[in-house]
Amino acid sequence: MSIATRSLRRHHRSVARCLLAVLLLVLPTWGAALEVGATIAPHAHFVEAIGSPHVRVVQMIPAQRLPETFEPSPRELAAAADLELYFAAGLAGEARWLDRLQGLNGHMRRVDLGTPAETAGSAAPTPDDHAHGAADPHRWTAPAQAARQVERIRDALSVADPAHAAHYAARAAAYLDSLTALDRELAICLEPFAGRVFLVWHPAWSHFAAAYGLEQLAVEHEGKSPGPRGLIALKQRVAREGLHTLFVQPQNAGPAVAAVARELAVATDTLDPLAADYRQNLRMVAARLAAELQ
Ligand SMILES: [Zn+2]
Repeated sequence: MSIATRSLRRHHRSVARCLLAVLLLVLPTWGAALEVGATIAPHAHFVEAIGSPHVRVVQMIPAQRLPETFEPSPRELAAAADLELYFAAGLAGEARWLDRLQGLNGHMRRVDLGTPAETAGSAAPTPDDHAHGAADPHRWTAPAQAARQVERIRDALSVADPAHAAHYAARAAAYLDSLTALDRELAICLEPFAGRVFLVWHPAWSHFAAAYGLEQLAVEHEGKSPGPRGLIALKQRVAREGLHTLFVQPQNAGPAVAAVARELAVATDTLDPLAADYRQNLRMVAARLAAELQ
C-alpha cells in the first residue's frame, strides 16, 4: 500500500469519526422524540404546545378533510404505525379506522379526548346534540373544556416520557393560563348577546355556545341534512329568530350547503372548528358571531 493511499484512508477514517461525533450530538434530542398522533389539528396543536421539542406529532386528518367521513389511505396508516401515544377526538367514524391503526400498532396507547375527563370536578355541560349522540365530542371549541384536554395531554405525555415530565408541566401551565385569559376575553366579547341564536351547518359548536350563553341551531341532524319537512320547520325558526347567516365549516362547503342557504334565504360565512391556530381562531369566531348578532 502506498503512503498516499494510507494517508487517504486515514483521512477517510477521521472524516467518518467526525460525522459520528456530529450524529451523537444530534441523536439525544432527535432520536428520543416521542412519536404522538392526534386526529385533528387543534389537538395536534395542543400536543405540540406542551411537548415541543420532545415530541413528534402526526396529525391524522388533513386540514381540509371532514373528520366524519375521513378514511386514511394505506400510506397515511403506515405513517402512523410507529406512534407510541394517540389522542383521539371521539368524532363519528373515527373509531373504525383507529381500531385498524391499533391493529397495526399494538403498543400504541390511546387517549380519547372526546369523553369527559374523569378528573373534572364539576359536571361539564353536555349539550344535547343529536349529530354525535348524547354528548357532542367537539369539546375543544370551549376553552374551559380544551383546558381539561390539555391537562390530559400533559398527563399522558408525562407517563409516556417521565424524563421530561417537568418540561411538560411547565409548558402546560403556561398554555392553561393563556386558555383562562382567552375564555375571559371571549366571555366579555359575547356577553351582550346572551340568549341569542346562531345558525350552523354541522353542529360542532354546542360546547362553545353553552360556555357563552348562546344557542346553536344546526341544519344537520345525525350527520344528515334535513328532509323537506325538517327544512320547512328550520325555515320558520330562522325567520322567527331573524337569522341572516348560515355558518359553515370550510370542510362542508359545497352545492348542498348552497341549496339549503338559498332555501333559508340566508348568506353563508365560515367558522372553522378544526383550525390549527386554536386561540387566534376562537377569537375570530367570537368576533364574527358578535358582528352577526349586533
Ligand atoms: Zn363534527
